[in-house]
Amino acid sequence: MAAITMKNIVKQYGDGFPAVNDVSLDVQDGEFMILVGPSGCGKSTLLRMIVGLEDITSGEMKIADRVVNKVAPRQRNLSMVFQNYALYPHLTVFENIAFPLRLAKKPDEEVRRRVTETAELLELTEHLERKPANLSGGQRQRVAMGRAIVRQADAFLFDEPLSNLDAKLRGQMRAEISRLQRRLGVTTVYVTHDQTEAMTLGDRVAVLRKGVLQQVGSPRELYEEP
Ligand code: ADP
Ligand code: ADP
Repeated sequence: MAAITMKNIVKQYGDGFPAVNDVSLDVQDGEFMILVGPSGCGKSTLLRMIVGLEDITSGEMKIADRVVNKVAPRQRNLSMVFQNYALYPHLTVFENIAFPLRLAKKPDEEVRRRVTETAELLELTEHLERKPANLSGGQRQRVAMGRAIVRQADAFLFDEPLSNLDAKLRGQMRAEISRLQRRLGVTTVYVTHDQTEAMTLGDRVAVLRKGVLQQVGSPRELYEEP
């Protein structure tokens, strides 16, 4: 089953060229899909239309077989990790990860169990009582990921989550995201302009150019010499 189905999606800001121009793309259940392309090609706009943070000009967006064009972001059960992950500086790692569960008014016992499991997965168990200021950049990024995955959403959406990190950390986090996604088996859409990320992370890669979907295929199909 396709987890996310995009049919003839168009986004027109003002009266210029469409930012996203007639994109049709299915993301399968459990699949890791990369959206790649140069700056300004419409990747973020497409991702934001999946999440519901941007209105769709025309076309149809389905998540788990439900048309969501008019569905509010919070009704979509998706989880997004941004490039500028903002942790709450006054809260501990535990409470930063727990935040979405607190918002959803989950019982304490469930919060404790899910935060503990998430922290183990991300190797943050020893840091749960610390504040973000006392963590390394990589640990902070993992806390931000913890906050995104603790909710057990239908899909994870990443918008260039590694672009502010140095090369070494980027490599580590790439491996971490790959390991987590395979372990959790959650449908993922990941936006990047970085070819290495596209080649190493995705089951499939969708290449956008000037708002148009140019190619979709496995990294092998797209990047290996024939
Ligand atoms: P990418 O994520 O690939 O860098 P974007 O989706 O951010 O591309 O942008 C695609 C195009 O839409 C660009 O030409 C950009 O200038 C334009 N755009 C993005 N957001 C807005 C907005 N809020 N208002 C007007 N134009 C926008
Ligand atoms: P507000 O700050 O008025 O709530 P936002 O546009 O920031 O407006 O977000 C509205 C709702 O959309 C949020 O309360 C949240 O539930 C959801 N939301 C916002 N951003 C995301 C995201 N990146 N991923 C998933 N849901 C989001």
